[in-house]
Amino acid sequence: MHHKEYDNMVDIVSITTAIQGIKAATEIVQSIRSADQSLASAEQKLILADLVSALADSKTALSNVQDYLHEKDKEIARLKESLALRKELIRHGETYYEASPKGFPVGDPYCSHCFEVKGIAVHINQLAGDRSKSICPSCKTKIRRHGARDGSKPNA
Ligand SMILES: [Zn+2]
Repeated sequence: MHHKEYDNMVDIVSITTAIQGIKAATEIVQSIRSADQSLASAEQKLILADLVSALADSKTALSNVQDYLHEKDKEIARLKESLALRKELIRHGETYYEASPKGFPVGDPYCSHCFEVKGIAVHINQLAGDRSKSICPSCKTKIRRHGARDGSKPNA
């Protein structure tokens, strides 16, 4: 397993444990408050209230960190996918294609804007009402029509 991923997993486990600990501590404090309400001094009640509030803040902060780590994981997965695509797709004309075993464009064209800017592969469609143009369904970029390629060597 990759070292970085392992570290990240440990972080998520630690945070989950910390959240559970804070939850348990909050329940203990709340049971102390309700059981001993009549016996506790005003000062003790204030201290317990502060403690509950501090625990709630910590729990919220940890939950935010947990969400943040999940987002990071998703972003890393997206970037990995994008990196793998980048190796596979080749530029031809104003678009990108998958590469045939010989390294020539094959299949339907992908939007160059989406691929280069966002790192995602989006097939372009024929523009309705103008057969000479294609349009990207995602970024709406219009370009000269590019057809499907059969993997043979393109004419220069
Ligand atoms: Zn696009």
